Amino acid sequence: MTEAVTATATGEIQPRTPNHPGTMPGLVLTARQLTKRFGGLAAVNQVNLDLWQGRIHGVIGPNGAGKSTLTNLLSGDLPPTEGTVTLAGQDITGWNPERISRQRLGRSYQKTNIFPAFTVWENIRLAAQSRNQPFAFNPLAWLTRAATHAVVNERAEKALELALLGSRRNTIAGAASHGEQRQLEIAMTLATEPQVLLLDEPLAGMGTMEAERMVQLLLGLKADHAMMLVEHDMDAVFAVADHLTVMVNGQVIASDTPAAVRADVTVQAAYLGEAH
Ligand code: ADP
Ligand code: MG
Repeated sequence: MTEAVTATATGEIQPRTPNHPGTMPGLVLTARQLTKRFGGLAAVNQVNLDLWQGRIHGVIGPNGAGKSTLTNLLSGDLPPTEGTVTLAGQDITGWNPERISRQRLGRSYQKTNIFPAFTVWENIRLAAQSRNQPFAFNPLAWLTRAATHAVVNERAEKALELALLGSRRNTIAGAASHGEQRQLEIAMTLATEPQVLLLDEPLAGMGTMEAERMVQLLLGLKADHAMMLVEHDMDAVFAVADHLTVMVNGQVIASDTPAAVRADVTVQAAYLGEAH
């Protein structure tokens, strides 16, 4: 990390490139003054956020706090009213979701996107293939088809294992349990090999066993991804998050380590106290 900082004449340590955070090693995504207004309502209001490789960034807050809107702003599903988003040092503000996804940002949606009549493997294979669409426009596609086939299979295989679905490969997706279907959704996102993962309430509707499995899955993904985890399940989020942002009415009221957030009286008054 020494290369990311520089000492001033007074010996003070400062970031060398404070205005270009994307150039700092490990810092993958940044949001600055990100704002979304729906008419008079600021659903997301001047939010700053950094996602780092190898860290799970939890986002919590009561219903209507703006968590899903924030996710949509980062993924390009909604254009911001104000503010900027950078991904790997590149300004992606206003880009459409497909373009952002090709820059290796993956997200899961709260509504399941799986094909229920296909097997778990077939669903993941299709998702892995979708990333190769540009090949369809290549006039020499037939030359690369065999190589592509192997690459796609390898990508799907890796996603299947990472999502802890190795033993469910041939299960018909529609017949899989709720928890397994949520794992499958994540597997399908992983099949596109994202660098950033945005997960909006992956534990929603899960029982204890399913939630524990999902927590294991998330921890397994941590090392190789920069993750944002929007989650209602406080036990889970405090168990996995390295950093927590608390939103209330579109605004960030705290952003700190889980321990510091738990001890924060403002957070307790505004949210945690009410949740427990
Ligand atoms: P959370 O995910 O934290 O529960 P949301 O981001 O879904 O919160 O919503 C934040 C606020 O924005 C809510 O008041 C919600 O009603 C409002 N909102 C969300 N999406 C829209 C939309 N498309 N049009 C108008 N208001 C919206
Ligand atoms: Mg939501």
